[in-house]
Amino acid sequence: MIKRNKLKYILLSLNLVFLIITSGCSSTVKTNISLENNMVTHFIDVGQGDCILVQVNNKNLLIDSGTSDSKERVIKYLKNNNISKLDYIVATHPHDDHIGGMASVIRNFEVAEFYAPKVIASTDSFENMIGSLKSKNLKIKVAKPNVTLDLGPSTSCTMLSPSKVSYKDTNNYSCAIKLAYKNSTYLFTGDIEKLSEQEILNKGYDLKADVLKVPHHGSSSSTSQEFLNKVSPQIAVISCGTSNSYGHPNKETLDKLKKLNCTIYRTDLDKNIILITDGVAISRYD
Ligand SMILES: [Zn+2]
Repeated sequence: MIKRNKLKYILLSLNLVFLIITSGCSSTVKTNISLENNMVTHFIDVGQGDCILVQVNNKNLLIDSGTSDSKERVIKYLKNNNISKLDYIVATHPHDDHIGGMASVIRNFEVAEFYAPKVIASTDSFENMIGSLKSKNLKIKVAKPNVTLDLGPSTSCTMLSPSKVSYKDTNNYSCAIKLAYKNSTYLFTGDIEKLSEQEILNKGYDLKADVLKVPHHGSSSSTSQEFLNKVSPQIAVISCGTSNSYGHPNKETLDKLKKLNCTIYRTDLDKNIILITDGVAISRYD
């Protein structure tokens, strides 16, 4: 009798160990990331598109939502990371590779505030996004320079663009965001082209950032040398799809980044990229 109980106990223990091991192996469950006294930034692999989650002070900021093809992956990723509420969503600009999954995200999560630049698109993704916002009684707040988001103590989060009310190229409507947690600084750029980079430079912002989300998936039409010199990142993150038809990232952009000796991460090669900072050092979780 004693032996049988002991065997039962061993089997139960093994079961528990097995459960812990298997849950730790899942590619999207990151239960051992400490959110306490850290800021965690997830560059979610959405193929050819952008989707970035920032977690700090128990607040969640989502920048873009990836494509409509990747929407299930994004929803699963957020749920696996125990997200139920998004304090802020910023849709940088209304191209499908940035807002394709937005309608689903809005439907699946509690959303407190939603920001987008003042520009419309006649696409299904845009109309679906508007429909989801209406169904939740959410109004679009205008993304423009000097709008700030409150991400709690020791943070600052400021929008740097779009500077103008009208652009020929939709990419230039992209809302760039400078985010700081203690001494760690990040610059998110959407798909700003050289024109918008120059406008941001002209405004005299402090662009120095430890981490740069490289504009427009590493396209040659962005990342001017002057802009890059001002940002001078230690880490450059390129969000792009494997063997994408645009040839992103462009060799010219990669060469500029390599010259800076910064660490380059790419979602097409590295998949989901998670950066953690305590406000001093930044490391990659893998
Ligand atoms: Zn894009």
